[in-house]
Amino acid sequence: MHFCAFSLRRSLSTMATKTFDYLVVGGGSGGIASGRRAAEFGISVGLVEFKRLGGTCVNVGCVPKKVMFNTAMHAEMIHDHKNYGFDVQSQGFKWSTIKESRDAYVKRLNGIYETNLGKSKVEYIDGYAKFVDNKVIEVNGQRYTGNHIMIATGGKPVVPDIPGAEHGITSDGFFDLADLPKKTAVVGAGYIAVELAGILKELGSDVSLFIRREQALRNFDEMISENVTKTLEESGVNVVKKSTSKTLTKESDGTMTYETTAGVFKGFDCVLWAVGRTPNTEGMGLDKTGVQVDQRGNIVVDEFQNTSAKNIYALGDVCGKALLTPVAIKAGRKLAHRLFNNETSLKMDYTYIPTVVFSHPPIGTVGLTQAEAEKEYGADNIKVYQSSWVGMYFAVTERKQRTVMKLICTGSEQKVVGLHMQGMGCDEMLQGFGVAIKMGATKADFDDTVAIHPTSSEELVTMR
Ligand SMILES: Cc1cc2nc3c(=O)[nH]c(=O)nc-3n(C[C@H](O)[C@H](O)[C@H](O)COP(=O)(O)OP(=O)(O)OC[C@H]3O[C@@H](n4cnc5c(N)ncnc54)[C@H](O)[C@@H]3O)c2cc1C
Repeated sequence: MHFCAFSLRRSLSTMATKTFDYLVVGGGSGGIASGRRAAEFGISVGLVEFKRLGGTCVNVGCVPKKVMFNTAMHAEMIHDHKNYGFDVQSQGFKWSTIKESRDAYVKRLNGIYETNLGKSKVEYIDGYAKFVDNKVIEVNGQRYTGNHIMIATGGKPVVPDIPGAEHGITSDGFFDLADLPKKTAVVGAGYIAVELAGILKELGSDVSLFIRREQALRNFDEMISENVTKTLEESGVNVVKKSTSKTLTKESDGTMTYETTAGVFKGFDCVLWAVGRTPNTEGMGLDKTGVQVDQRGNIVVDEFQNTSAKNIYALGDVCGKALLTPVAIKAGRKLAHRLFNNETSLKMDYTYIPTVVFSHPPIGTVGLTQAEAEKEYGADNIKVYQSSWVGMYFAVTERKQRTVMKLICTGSEQKVVGLHMQGMGCDEMLQGFGVAIKMGATKADFDDTVAIHPTSSEELVTMR
């Protein structure tokens, strides 16, 4: 009898709902940034995360990807050492060395994120959050509520619905690879496919990139789609065009055979699906709330990150728009200021978001593509400046690589509405130009700026 009363008391107490001013679901880029900023305004914040803190970017995205891009940059430069006078015999490449230090770095970051949550007085709740209704979330049997609830649960890679697809990996699995695959099929034409194909190729894998149409990165400016496809091919990637997946078969020798509409391709020890991402909205009880999702499962929000349910907000990848870490971070911080610092009109501005693709060479792009500018302003009302040249780095090397750049301007004042480039250094070149374009710079402003010589970026202020 005594025991029963105790258990009843205990179960009642565990079910007691804990209330926060701000309850954040998802401890990735957007969730952590928003939760920590909100806590600065002196309110109580809880943050729920069921995997490793840091989300996609830190664990299976930007961060480990950039480490691998840097690794691949070393491989790329090795080709030029001889021409620059260095007698460096390559001692080969050991995947496990960089994997170990990369994993250790990511683990350190996970720890730093946890420490920072503590420093900011954000209560970290380790577990999977499920909505009970519009106000209450359950994690490991404990109930929580927030006066304001924010969903930043991100997304995950899509695996195609074809026989044998389970033999392939996704970008998540790329970071688990114990060794460099000998022969890889990368399937997809988006930036993740392009980046991972480039890294694997530079590090020595025999890579085929399977794309559905004629060019990779088809949503980018035409100059970029054309050039990136060309540079992939020039680097030795076998770009298989007009190929749609049919089946993937694991053979008795352990290799994989990939059947597509463009033919049958054999002998892969790694097949990597990079065919898109889907939001993490399934299975978390959103049907018990008034939160509306679209046909693809993305949470529908207005420009202030409000969902269709009162006091529930969403941001970052789970909304399916501009899937980038700094976008999730900025949207998260702005929301915190709006809700808890009385900055009632503050919202994320989704225009002129600069983006880099860490291809070989890298791509930098901001603003409208030429096709978008023509549609928006009319072909007669835009002026396009374009250049293509072999950069000075390659003046003394056998290996040649072109840099391409394009400026798109509109109106009598020639406001710059699009900037697109691919070439060595373009990744680090873009941010500053991004500021200028966001401020409304015109071609005359670009021309008035003194060039930095000798660089590739000087081309952007000397185009005619
Ligand atoms: C391979 C790759 C490379 C990338 N490279 C770049 C890059 O170079 N630059 C860039 O800007 N962006 C890059 N991105 C995109 C970037 O990682 C995302 O845009 C960013 O992480 C989105 O942040 P988020 O907060 O919306 O979601 P996430 O960072 O994905 O965080 C969501 C978190 O929510 C958690 N979660 C989900 N459901 C629940 C639940 N029910 N309960 C509790 N927790 C839950 C997840 O475990 C996850 O940790 C890359 C992505 C990939 C896959």
